[in-house]
Amino acid sequence: MQVKILGSAAGGGFPQWNCACPNCRSVRAGTLLGKARTQAQLAISADAEHWFLLGASPDLRSQIESTPELHPHPRDNSTRHSPICGTILLNADIDHILGLLLMRELQPLHIYSSSSVRHIVEDNSMFAMLQRVEGQLSWSSISPNEWFPLHSSSHNQSCPRCRVLSLGNHFPAYVPSKRLSRSDRKEASLGLLIEAPSGKKLAFLPAVPQITDELLSELERADVLLFDGTFWSDDELIRIQGSGQTAQQMGHVSVSSPGGSLAQLAHLKYPRKIYIHINNTNPMLNEDSPEHRQVRDAGWEIAEDGWHFEL
Ligand SMILES: [Zn+2]
Repeated sequence: MQVKILGSAAGGGFPQWNCACPNCRSVRAGTLLGKARTQAQLAISADAEHWFLLGASPDLRSQIESTPELHPHPRDNSTRHSPICGTILLNADIDHILGLLLMRELQPLHIYSSSSVRHIVEDNSMFAMLQRVEGQLSWSSISPNEWFPLHSSSHNQSCPRCRVLSLGNHFPAYVPSKRLSRSDRKEASLGLLIEAPSGKKLAFLPAVPQITDELLSELERADVLLFDGTFWSDDELIRIQGSGQTAQQMGHVSVSSPGGSLAQLAHLKYPRKIYIHINNTNPMLNEDSPEHRQVRDAGWEIAEDGWHFEL
């Protein structure tokens, strides 16, 4: 199974349009030892021909253009085609679903999501552009802890199978209270486990509010772990912006705090450990920083746009 990291930053990207934090200023000035990043986006494929997205980032258009495997090819006397078969939505955050609107153009698309996230998407009439003609949009419902296969159009070959974990219980702030009262909080924020046809396992967890024993035992079985690297410290936004919420309040365990991911996942020796969904304020983006060194010395990698590996 091919895995491509098309985007590795948290919502807003790096640099973020309205941010003048030290990281954003220096990456714009070209003085940062480190790379700019687009908003988190993964693509996977079992046959290098049919691709599935994990989420749909607002940067999807440029991410597709910079990835030749995702370019269309003329088929059956038509110039309209895409190797992208579908996407798995793990939450209804703007930076995770906005890219759906970039895939309208009457192209067939299959979405895997919880029914709570599906209803939130369908409440917004703009997404009806994905369903203008018969057969354009189809849905599969996914529920925490249940396995589901990722089918492409060629059913005769083995395909990856997936399972989602319930991680957080906060829906995005834009969801109206009427919809919230009819939504299942266990479906608000999910992590994804993917088993490749080879038997190797990938865990993709871009938003983890807390690391439980149950989660740890799941991660012990992974071969590659892509984990929430949003914030270095719990009070990062408040310190850098002068206001805002803590990482914890935003549904993210921080990297360095006591009880943070560096400490709690230190004993996981087996999986390849990669931080992803990194906020522009996170000091570990600066490769010259003690924070960057600390993470690398602990055996972690820090995802960059364009990385590619095989499982
Ligand atoms: Zn910034």
